[in-house]
Amino acid sequence: MSNVHVTGAARGIGQAIALRLAQDGHRVAVSDLESMRGALEDTRNELPEVAAGGHVALTGDVSDPASVRALVHDTAQQLGSLDVMVANAGIAQTKALLDVSPEEYDQVHRVNGRGVFLCYTEAARQMIAQGTGGKIIGAASIAAHKGFPLLGVYCSSKFAVRALTQAAAQEWAPHGITVNAYCPGIVETSMWEQIDADLGAINHVGKGESMAAMAAGITLGRVSTGADVAKLVSYLAGPDSDYMTGQSVLVDGGMLFI
Ligand code: NAD
Repeated sequence: MSNVHVTGAARGIGQAIALRLAQDGHRVAVSDLESMRGALEDTRNELPEVAAGGHVALTGDVSDPASVRALVHDTAQQLGSLDVMVANAGIAQTKALLDVSPEEYDQVHRVNGRGVFLCYTEAARQMIAQGTGGKIIGAASIAAHKGFPLLGVYCSSKFAVRALTQAAAQEWAPHGITVNAYCPGIVETSMWEQIDADLGAINHVGKGESMAAMAAGITLGRVSTGADVAKLVSYLAGPDSDYMTGQSVLVDGGMLFI
């Protein structure tokens, strides 16, 4: 079993991933912003014990290089190694492109693009130093495969994750590192509640109506839970995905067909 780090794990998809990977028998370091420390520690305390020892909770901002360096260093030191990095943390933005300021553009790319870049590269440095290979996994989205109106900047940041995933897979294959990303559709989390509220305000529709309209197009007839996404990440973090790299895999209940 492996030593894993999951960013953005205080709630939502990251929390579900941490839980599933602990259930799989991995030892997990969960991280999130310092402002989320209480919820993060709750997440850590809910993880089932594994034979290799306890799980750890660390705080740090994925958009800050020193912070990410410390997250990777502390994980390796406290768990003994870093074998799987899940760069899950991300933020949403729902705005017409003509209303987005340059600062707002930067804010989204700072977390979703630069944050994933920093997590990928710091994890790779650690894995290369260990000489044992590893698995690096990023949070992309259906928005990494298609540009959606009112989510243009968010989509551009998720296209960046897909590009980084393809390039990193090719650069780090000689070190035994695979790099893949998961692409959820609509997952019932705080992020989607916010997107639904923002779309509702722009389109003058009530709470839940924007989500319901998008959910109506889901082939499997329901929106996703975090656990649905965590099942794919479980596969990407384990040996069954050893012959797979550079992929950004849809887990969207059948929204996009590509
Ligand atoms: P969420 O908002 O519920 O949780 C995100 C977590 O990331 C939060 O705990 C937050 O504090 C943390 N975070 C934000 N900025 C951070 C930073 N700079 N440093 C460290 N942590 C930070 O979101 P979620 O729905 O669980 O989304 C998780 C990932 O999945 C994101 O990358 C998101 O873009 C992606 N995703 C979500 C959906 C969806 O429908 N919810 C769909 C596709 C992709």
